[in-house]
Amino acid sequence: MVKKFKKVLVANRGEIAIRIFRACSELGIRTVGIYSKEDKYSLFRSKSDESYLVGEDKGPIEAYLDMESIIHIAKKKDVDAIHPGYGFLSENAEFARMCRENGIEFIGPSPEVMDRMGDKINSKKVAKEANVPTIPGVDHSIETAEEAKVIAKQIGYPIMLKASNGGGGRGMRVIEKEEDLVLEFDRAVSESKKAFGKACIFVEKYLRKPKHIEVQIVGDKHGNIVHLYERDCSVQRRHQKIIEFAPAFGLSEDVRDRICEDALKLANHVGYHSAGTLEFLVDADENYYFIEMNPRIQVEHTVSEMVTGIDIVQSQILVAQGYSLDSEEINIKSQDDIKLNGYSIQCRITTEDPKNNFMPDTGKIHVYRTGSGFGIRLDGGNGFTGSEITPHYDSLLVKTISWDRTFKNSIRKMLRSIKEIRIRGVKTNIGFLVNVLNHPDFVDGKCDTKFVDETEELFE
Ligand code: ADP
Repeated sequence: MVKKFKKVLVANRGEIAIRIFRACSELGIRTVGIYSKEDKYSLFRSKSDESYLVGEDKGPIEAYLDMESIIHIAKKKDVDAIHPGYGFLSENAEFARMCRENGIEFIGPSPEVMDRMGDKINSKKVAKEANVPTIPGVDHSIETAEEAKVIAKQIGYPIMLKASNGGGGRGMRVIEKEEDLVLEFDRAVSESKKAFGKACIFVEKYLRKPKHIEVQIVGDKHGNIVHLYERDCSVQRRHQKIIEFAPAFGLSEDVRDRICEDALKLANHVGYHSAGTLEFLVDADENYYFIEMNPRIQVEHTVSEMVTGIDIVQSQILVAQGYSLDSEEINIKSQDDIKLNGYSIQCRITTEDPKNNFMPDTGKIHVYRTGSGFGIRLDGGNGFTGSEITPHYDSLLVKTISWDRTFKNSIRKMLRSIKEIRIRGVKTNIGFLVNVLNHPDFVDGKCDTKFVDETEELFE
């Protein structure tokens, strides 16, 4: 049964809040924004139909995590649904339950599925159940360094210690030899407690130079799930993505097909609905392994939209209302209905200084000009002439997304566009991005996850 939304609250800020407001507006849904006191003058606020201050007595991040206040605003303003965006409350099953208890639709998977797939250990267990390959190691938490030693002996060094509830590239440690294990294990435990509230550490084989390939899926509440093919997110710095593209380039067609099929198998296994991403690592011999699921919209969803023509955020909102994938509104009749067209690349333009260890820069922007034109999409956040970049939030300024029929032309278009950008007042990573896009390894689709960390000339 379809229950149409009249009003949606977006529990997020910056570019993703704007992205979701736009999707709602196109669907004829009124939008409600929330903002912290630090975001009082931020651009995203003015892009919603109405907006309310949240967490006045809280810190800049904590304000967006203030579940009770957000629910309170939603109820007071008669909101039908809440979209959590990415980060903040997007992977919080407790928040999804609170929404449900208050008669508000949470735009995402069910809390039960979030419990099963929400952390790295649990999702690894589920992948094994579904016969999807995972990285050799364990799928339970390790209490002592001695225990880790025994496992490391079985799988061989190098190994990785991972925090099950880690995210954003944090909570991972590579260990090359047994002598380092005790010290590193203690560090991993205390770091994990500090960053994520508890220490839930597990061990797996460290792959030296894998590619990061992930599959976008969308499912409805009637048991239909499709994939929107894969993205390559190997261009990373310290396990954090910088440039993403779709479809993968320089990987065999057969492996790409199998990864997409396995992603679908896993999503079906847990009865997934809404948009989600299944992440895999692929080694030099093209063996692939599932690493985790992100049960939410991702920063890089844009490139999959560009090559399939499907609006993923709108699809999320429509399936949350009960529409089936093959409904007139979503119009995906079957998997075969989804055709790949061309190549799309996304660059995350950040206010970071590549020459100073990517330190976030702050200050007033006094010149802000971007490069658009045919084949270029800009998903912006809070950047405009006169805007203030504060130290409170992540440093993503604008996502530049290119599309062209071939990978090389898509790179050319991206280069042309980001070279047109003029930003004065804060430092950006544009020069660094230009170096990556011009590098022969990038052009040939050869970048692995160590490419940035091991290629000094990118920083010149
Ligand atoms: P997060 O949740 O912090 O984003 P992920 O599990 O998605 O963490 O991993 C992020 C990145 O860390 C991967 O893309 C990859 O570069 C690296 N990584 C994770 N696990 C391994 C591993 N076992 N071997 C090598 N690299 C890994």
